[in-house]
Amino acid sequence: MVHVMKFGGTSVVTGEALAQVGRIVKRWLVGERPLVVVVSALGTRPIKVTDWLLRGLQAAAVGELAQAAEAKAYLEAVHLDLITNVFGETAEQAELAEQITIGLKAYDRLCEAVAVRGQISATIEAECLSLGERWSAPIVAAYLRTQGIKAEAVMGTELVVTSEDVLAATPDKALTRERVAARLGPLLAEGVVPVVTGFIGETVRGEVALLGRGGSDYSAAILGEALAATEVCIWTDVPGVMTADPRRVAVAQPIQSLSFGEVTTLALAGAKVLHPETMRPCWQANIPLRIKDTFAPERTGTLIVNDVADDRRWRAVTSYRGGAEQAVVTLVGAGQGKEAAAVAAAWQTLSEAGVTVLAQEARTDTVQAVVPVWDEDRALWAWHDLVV
Ligand code: ASP
Ligand code: MG
Repeated sequence: MVHVMKFGGTSVVTGEALAQVGRIVKRWLVGERPLVVVVSALGTRPIKVTDWLLRGLQAAAVGELAQAAEAKAYLEAVHLDLITNVFGETAEQAELAEQITIGLKAYDRLCEAVAVRGQISATIEAECLSLGERWSAPIVAAYLRTQGIKAEAVMGTELVVTSEDVLAATPDKALTRERVAARLGPLLAEGVVPVVTGFIGETVRGEVALLGRGGSDYSAAILGEALAATEVCIWTDVPGVMTADPRRVAVAQPIQSLSFGEVTTLALAGAKVLHPETMRPCWQANIPLRIKDTFAPERTGTLIVNDVADDRRWRAVTSYRGGAEQAVVTLVGAGQGKEAAAVAAAWQTLSEAGVTVLAQEARTDTVQAVVPVWDEDRALWAWHDLVV
C-alpha cells in the first residue's frame, strides 16, 4: 500500500515549491496511507546545487581556491536564504542552519584535500556531491513538520547498500531490502513520512556512494522495489512524458500512459525521459511509475506500466543529431511498426511534407528516417500529426 514520491530539485528550491510539496503530501495522507518521500538537492538555476559542489571541488583541484570559495559562498547563501524565507527566525531555522554549516565545513575540508593532492579521488567526489541531498532532505522534512505532518529525514546511506564503484554504484537488492525494512518499517508503522535523500547510498565498507548523476529517480525506484510499493511517482516541473520535445514541436502533449519498453525506445531515440536503468527496478517488480507536475498536480501526468491498453497507432516522435548535417527522426509506437499500412502512411506523410529522406527503416515498434538537419523540424511536425 505504500507509495514513493520523489520530488526533483526544482520542486524543493523555493518556499512556493515546498508549499506545493506540502499540499501534495497532505492530500495523500488524508487516506492515512503510508508514504516515503525522496528528494533531490536544490535545483537552483541556471546551475543546480550538485553542479556547484562539483565546480568548486574541480576549481580547488587545480588550485583555483578563490573559485572554490565562491562556490561555497553561493551554496551557503541559497540554503540559508531558503530556510530563512520558509522558517523565519525559529528554532527549526537555527537547527537547519547549523546542519548547513557542518556540511560547508566538510566541503571546505574536501576542497583542501583535493587542492593539496591536485586531483579528485572518487571517494572525495562522492562525499562532496552527496552534500546537496544531505542539506535538502532535512529542510523538506522540517517543512512538512511545520504543516502538521509527522516527517523525519533519513539518509540514503542508511538504506541503499551499493557496489564499490562509488560514482555510479549499483544497489545490492537483498541488503537494501533488509535495511529498508529495518529503518523505514518502524517509521511507516507509526505514520511517519520518511524524507530520504535521493542519489546516495553506502558501500558495504561504509563509504558514501552515488547512484550516478540524476540518480534520485533511481533511488525512488530502488526504494519502491525494496518496499514493494504500489506506485512510484516522480514529481517534476514538466507535465509528463511528452509526444515530442515541446521546444521543437510547440503542440506537443503529455502522453497519458506508456509501457516501460516504449519509454526505453524513446530514450534510446534521443528523448529526454527517464533513463532505462532508472526504471528497471519498477519494471522488474511491476510497479507503476508515474510522472507528474508538482506545479500542476491536477494534471494526469504520465503513467508508465508493463502493458498499455491503448490502441493509438503512434505514441511519440523524437530525434537526435547523427553528425553535423543529419538528424535521425523516430516515430514510436509499440508493435505498430508491423502494420504495413501504418508504416506506409508514415513514409507518405514525410514525402507529402516535402522532407528529404536520406535513409529509412521500419522496426517492430518504430519507424526511423535520416534527414538533413534543415528538414528535422519539418519531419518532427509532420510525424507528430500522426500522434494522437
Ligand atoms: N542531485 C543529483 C544530481 O544532480 C541527483 C538528482 O538530482 O537526481 O545529479
Ligand atoms: Mg533529475
